[in-house]
Amino acid sequence: MSAYEGLPDTRTSLCGLTVDGDEVWLIRGISQKLYRCPACGGAVEIGADHVIVQTVLRLGGTEHQHWHRRCVDEILIYQLHNLRRVSALESTRERLERRAQLKPGRRRRNLRRR
Ligand SMILES: [Zn+2]
Repeated sequence: MSAYEGLPDTRTSLCGLTVDGDEVWLIRGISQKLYRCPACGGAVEIGADHVIVQTVLRLGGTEHQHWHRRCVDEILIYQLHNLRRVSALESTRERLERRAQLKPGRRRRNLRRR
């Protein structure tokens, strides 16, 4: 069980770093269609409360995946460092795509903690 139990939720997202220095944003989502969780290979059913894992790559660009909450809690959370809570307002797709166009050194100052 992690200190981030129940997160992300509608108000709070999480943000951490991979060993390669990519930023990983964990955002609460409700599936609009059927997804496949990359961790366990199982279905993320339509309407499921799950986690959108959006990566802002160190070298620019973003990519995202849809994970089960349980898989994030049991696997992904332990692969990230400098994990912190951030306002969900910081983690909209438009903001993260804009963020991905900044040089990595300029990204941190834009982050507001909660
Ligand atoms: Zn899964």
